[in-house]
Amino acid sequence: MNENKEIFLCAICNIESGTCNEDCKFCTQSVKYKADILRYKRKEIEQIVEEAKRARTNGANGFCLVTAGKGLDDKRLEFVCEAARAVKKENLGLILIACNGTATVPQIQALKEAGVDAYNHNLETAQDYYSQIVTTHTWEERYQTCLNVNEVGLRLVCGGIFGLGETQEQRVSMLESIASLNPMNVPLNFFHPNEALPIVENSVSREEAFELISLARKMIPNAMKIMVAGGRELMFGDEQYKIFEKGANAFVIGDYLTTAGRTPAEDIAELEKQGIKVIRERD
Ligand code: SF4
Repeated sequence: MNENKEIFLCAICNIESGTCNEDCKFCTQSVKYKADILRYKRKEIEQIVEEAKRARTNGANGFCLVTAGKGLDDKRLEFVCEAARAVKKENLGLILIACNGTATVPQIQALKEAGVDAYNHNLETAQDYYSQIVTTHTWEERYQTCLNVNEVGLRLVCGGIFGLGETQEQRVSMLESIASLNPMNVPLNFFHPNEALPIVENSVSREEAFELISLARKMIPNAMKIMVAGGRELMFGDEQYKIFEKGANAFVIGDYLTTAGRTPAEDIAELEKQGIKVIRERD
């Protein structure tokens, strides 16, 4: 039975998809790898609002506006702000998160003024492994964006991805770096292989993945949420609700960025069966 009986759900809204020129070896959104995914420039604002409403109905507490690309420029910033204002106007009670890559202090400030509550920027992997995974930008740029988020005073959502061939020491190093940023929410992703990508397999075993959740909880005790994000179904299979026994207290409901998740109805039915309560209101 689950020790940790109260959890949070978060939904992702891919408001721009598959248009990124960066070369992160784990990411199907990069145009370099030609993965067979849906690619589009801008989702309609009405559709974004509809998805936010549906996420709320499904029990989500957080709603994340995700763009594909290295970071914000003026046009993308205006689009995210427009989407944020439209969702906020509905007063759905959702924590609104933006996930738009590299961002400066003034850009993050503009998001805050548009109603964004939190900013998600993951460190992805260890500082000393990053150049083997990405060559088009640096780990230090990522870390700086997280510092910028803290400077503006938006809530920081910062995690990473396991299973890229990193060593155990590098996994610990990434968690130490995340802890140093004092994030509110730590999304843990597990690599989901795709035949188009240069990395061919997930290098984390299920047992290791459970241990990594426990380790993240131990190393980042102040995080309000340790969230299992991408790769949940593939990594944990029929043991996926055991993540809550290991210290996770949140997961992503519905589809991920480019892979389908369980349906919200399936997740909610299973959570109820296990006696796990979904917290909708607390932020
Ligand atoms: S992880 Fe982000 S920056 Fe890297 S390819 Fe994917 S969308 Fe682009």
